[in-house]
Amino acid sequence: MPVLPALYISHGSPMTALQPGLPGERLAALAAGLDRPRAIVVASAHWLTRAPRAGGAAHPATVHDFGGFPRALFELQYPAPGDPGLAARVAGLLAGAGLPAEVDPSRGLDHGVWVPLRLLYPAADIPVVPLSIQPHLGPAHQFALGRALAPLRGEGVLLVGSGSITHNLQDWRGSPGLEEAPYVRPFVEWVERRLGENDAAALLDYRRLAPGAERAHPTDEHLQPLHFAMGAAGGPELGARRIDAGVDMGFLAMDIYRFDGAARA
Ligand code: ZN
Repeated sequence: MPVLPALYISHGSPMTALQPGLPGERLAALAAGLDRPRAIVVASAHWLTRAPRAGGAAHPATVHDFGGFPRALFELQYPAPGDPGLAARVAGLLAGAGLPAEVDPSRGLDHGVWVPLRLLYPAADIPVVPLSIQPHLGPAHQFALGRALAPLRGEGVLLVGSGSITHNLQDWRGSPGLEEAPYVRPFVEWVERRLGENDAAALLDYRRLAPGAERAHPTDEHLQPLHFAMGAAGGPELGARRIDAGVDMGFLAMDIYRFDGAARA
């Protein structure tokens, strides 16, 4: 069975679902170039828990976990099946790595999961298991989650971290095409360089080392899915490739990364 890459996807505003633009084109092209996964695990910036939880619903609901957007957005569905067996295996792999995890039999798909998946796999016919993250435990914890699940990449499972490479909602301007916030480019370029150098240590310590880190991420639940995907790269060679998908509203950089590192540590 072919080994799938791990992905980090900047999911952007929920409006990306209605106005896919460049990120939509990039995600469709990315999916077209991948072997078809048998299932997808998504670690989402919109599911935060004290300890890891994997969604084990057989038919997870599409959750519209946002407000103030057009009615059309609330009518969108992503009726992908779940995979309770895979959720149990995820929890087992995490427990085996010293990361006790539980299966949540009722969790649906938050917009960090379904907005990008609608653009990657619009047919919604590949089973999806959502995974919570624990940003309060820091980037190294999310890296460890990804590392524990890396073997699944060799079993036809696509591992995805869903967040945003820059995410300062105080800069929300509500419309596209405005001038780029000054911290965006230096931060995005720093991340790309460190990934290219396989410098996981610097990325885990990004808050101290990266330019504009605290402007780019006043809270960093949207960056730590990147650390999950880096862990899922499986070893010191991350095999990171950046896919530029523009900057939404001047402050939400929409970078996508694929990691083709060996699936085993
Ligand atoms: Zn988000």
